[in-house]
Amino acid sequence: QLIHSGLTAVMGGQQSTFSHEYPCHSPTEKRWFLMNVVGLTGSSDELFVIIHSNITQRKLAEQQIELLSLLDPLTGLANRRHLMQFLPAEWQRNRRDQTPISLILLDIDDFKKINDQHGHVVGDECLKHIAGLVARSARRPSDLAVRWGGEEFMLVLGNTVADKALAMANELVMNAPNNLSPDRVRCTISLGVSTALPQDDKFESLIQQADAALYQAKAAGKNQVHCHAPHAQ
Ligand code: GH3
Ligand code: MG
Ligand code: MG
Repeated sequence: QLIHSGLTAVMGGQQSTFSHEYPCHSPTEKRWFLMNVVGLTGSSDELFVIIHSNITQRKLAEQQIELLSLLDPLTGLANRRHLMQFLPAEWQRNRRDQTPISLILLDIDDFKKINDQHGHVVGDECLKHIAGLVARSARRPSDLAVRWGGEEFMLVLGNTVADKALAMANELVMNAPNNLSPDRVRCTISLGVSTALPQDDKFESLIQQADAALYQAKAAGKNQVHCHAPHAQ
């Protein structure tokens, strides 16, 4: 439809040129083209030139940049930017389906001490170790493992009841100290879990509730899980 009206506009003389990018994928290869239409002036006949250029390289580079812009470089997890695309969409999907959505917020305990005592390189190893555990917990397309901040991580769990999220959080807290990296620094984590059956578009409440639960876990002595609403299903 767009192509048709563009062609008509150039051929009717309302427009001197028309450009359009379009995908043309084959079963084995992804390809994109750019179509340029221009009228040949100075000819007595009505002549038009249509050029199709292969722009696949540029499109692939753009896709790569888009992908990289959603990743945390140190851990390879999704970054905050990715979360802010993913969470509202997943929230809306669970709202439509009336299924529960859960969120685990996770913070490494006394991470400043680890950095101070062992150095930043070891600190980074701990971050990667915990990131690996979080990534392995995100198993379904409706899950997302996120580096939320410095030593804070998040696990979004679409279509997941509170008990299941709590079980996953407990598994994480148990596995956190088993660091297999060369330095074997024993790091523990604290976790806050929240669950909601979305009724409005205020997805931020899920983060706030997990944050409040995480605060309780820290206040109660760290290395443990707290739930905001353990039986709200
Ligand atoms: P708490 O148990 O209360 O969470 O204490 P904490 O020491 O873990 O928390 P705090 O917020 O005081 O310190 C977080 C530290 O994380 C401070 C900061 O230097 C460090 N940090 C943040 N990002 C990185 C990173 O990418 N690499 C390393 N090595 N350290 C980081
Ligand atoms: Mg923190
Ligand atoms: Mg911390």
